[in-house]
Amino acid sequence: YSTPAQPAELDASKVTITVAREFKPVPPASELVFGQVMTDHMMVVHYDPVNGWSAPEIKPYGPLSIDPASSCLQYATNVFEGMKAYAGPDGRPRLFRPDMNMKRMQISAARVALPPFDTAELLKLIHKLVALDARWIPTVKGHSLYIRPTIIGTRDSLGVAASDRATLYVILCPTGPFFRTGARPVNLLAVHDHVRAWPGGTGGYKLALNYAPTFKPQQHAAKLGYDQCLWLLGEKITEAGAMNFFVVVRRDDGDLDVITPPLDGTILPGITRASTLDLIRAHPSRTTLPGLSPETLLHAVERELTISQLAAWAEEGRLLEAFTVGTAVVVAAVGRIGHDGKDIVLPAHEGALGAVARALYERITDIQEGRFEWENWSVPC
Ligand code: PMP
Repeated sequence: YSTPAQPAELDASKVTITVAREFKPVPPASELVFGQVMTDHMMVVHYDPVNGWSAPEIKPYGPLSIDPASSCLQYATNVFEGMKAYAGPDGRPRLFRPDMNMKRMQISAARVALPPFDTAELLKLIHKLVALDARWIPTVKGHSLYIRPTIIGTRDSLGVAASDRATLYVILCPTGPFFRTGARPVNLLAVHDHVRAWPGGTGGYKLALNYAPTFKPQQHAAKLGYDQCLWLLGEKITEAGAMNFFVVVRRDDGDLDVITPPLDGTILPGITRASTLDLIRAHPSRTTLPGLSPETLLHAVERELTISQLAAWAEEGRLLEAFTVGTAVVVAAVGRIGHDGKDIVLPAHEGALGAVARALYERITDIQEGRFEWENWSVPC
């Protein structure tokens, strides 16, 4: 045995695959509850500072064994991603802009001083894992296989310092549409006494430590009859639940501004957010969005949004739509926003989604499920 001169890079070609002896029954699409049933296999790879990345393993899904003093359990060195595989019309699995998830994961890991990894190699491993568990991808429209890549710090010492050891793993679970019984608007409670993110903080990274503090305010919102929190920073709107937030506002010249807050570090750079802005900018010159007339001119605007500005637009009848976007919901309409004991009520639309939200929902799901080719956003496995 000799110590390697250089720690090894993550290398998908070194993967060993151990196929499960028994396969679990796949639940019927109609009975899927998000995140409950995992598929047959997972991918696991370990990092230590001497050897670098180990040979990746794809093996039967099961518990990890980690030291109780592990950095991730004590100091929240825990980064994750959320992405989906969809069944294409040819039955082949497809991923949606997976390079963006890989990039975001790399940036998040660096923020909590977890080791870097080759994102292209991780993506190859995800392709292999999804291909192996492809029978779990529901072929029903609006259903998909959720992919949860995770990195945890496994340094086994209570010293408060960066974790120089890590485990990177990927697990999968089948999932149905966010709204089972047809789209309905979500109601938001504007929250300013608890803050999700702040300037110089970590809101712009996908770190587990951003999520735990949101559960209590979320429970409070639910008690008051709201679905999710609308996270404020002072007057400023940042995000809604674990989704990015948009409004559609009618301008004086009749065009529509589609507005979302800018990526100032307090907002997660959502892949659905980026896709929404791109599609708005492409309408109608490069593609006419479904159900919208080419005469409807849309302007993608990234600018600060305040809750009082929203209330004023609603009052003037200019606030046509509010919606949230993210991998889980794709696009969801907002029905009302509770703020200081009053509700800002959005116009109601047949089938919940307003014209712009509906156009985006239809176009994004058509791209994800391989019915509409656009900019190589949908990548076959
Ligand atoms: N904001 C937060 C806080 C999130 O956790 C997510 C989900 N990843 C989003 C926004 C939406 O991002 P995406 O479109 O990449 O799913």
